[in-house]
Amino acid sequence: MLTEKAQAKINLTLDVLHKRPDGYHEVEMVMQTVDLSDHLQFQERSDGEIVLTCTAPYIPLDQRNLVYQAAQLMRETYGITKGLHIHIEKRIPVAAGLAGGSSDAAATLRGLNRLWSLGLTLDQLAELGAKIGSDVPFCIYGGTAIARGRGEKIERLPSVSPTWVVLVKPPIAVSTADVYGRLRADEIEHHPSTEAMVEALQTGDVKVISSQLGNVLEGVTFAMYPEVERLKQQLLKFGAQGALMSGSGPTLFALVEREQKALRICNALRGFSREVYLCRFF
Ligand code: ATP
Repeated sequence: MLTEKAQAKINLTLDVLHKRPDGYHEVEMVMQTVDLSDHLQFQERSDGEIVLTCTAPYIPLDQRNLVYQAAQLMRETYGITKGLHIHIEKRIPVAAGLAGGSSDAAATLRGLNRLWSLGLTLDQLAELGAKIGSDVPFCIYGGTAIARGRGEKIERLPSVSPTWVVLVKPPIAVSTADVYGRLRADEIEHHPSTEAMVEALQTGDVKVISSQLGNVLEGVTFAMYPEVERLKQQLLKFGAQGALMSGSGPTLFALVEREQKALRICNALRGFSREVYLCRFF
């Protein structure tokens, strides 16, 4: 049996430049993986079937699951007929803006590359991953990177010192398609600066990095779910130097310099949300 971890991602910045003629939004995002991860186990089956199991309820276990799509794509591309049982131990909250499904798909591509000794490079795996979803190529590499295009064009950045991250998820599920559908790309007033964030990351200073956080989707999600904005205010009130929504939400995060302070913020948040996680840049 082979195992592979799938890390959650947060957006340190998320900018939408314009809506493209093909209907997608042209984005520019600084992405970071954190050490909150799903654990995947891969085992071959002799009957040629792909069988998924998952610890979390309500997750589709058929072709709708990105893990299934990744396994099928690997088999078709490399002419492999062997069957598979893939077990997903879910730890990343679902439909939360943390790219759980995309990261599982990326872990599947990396895992099967090892299981079947295909010898593919990360760049080759990222190219395959783009066929499954825009966030999959970033999840193949992990670490710190700028994502452009639909999110699939990755420029890797030097790794950043391992900062503490407090994550808090309000008890709602947000549809990414719904949020992008309501965004008026031509009416965005404040765009985060990718360049300023890249410079801030080079300092390794949490205060400097926090001052450059920005996500143009916040306004859309806050308008749909005012409780997300209220929770952000709580996060700041409990001492976070900056806080941001990740992706299309609803998960919020804050970067914190010291573990003690991060633990204090986590404990304070537990009075407001059942889903609070302490993790680090990975
Ligand atoms: P993103 O930030 O990329 O929009 P997300 O974190 O908001 O992603 P996911 O957790 O990836 O959202 O899940 C969104 C939906 O995708 C789920 O409601 C689920 O039905 C479907 N899905 C397909 N495969 C998976 C998977 N392996 N894990 C979780 N959800 C999956």
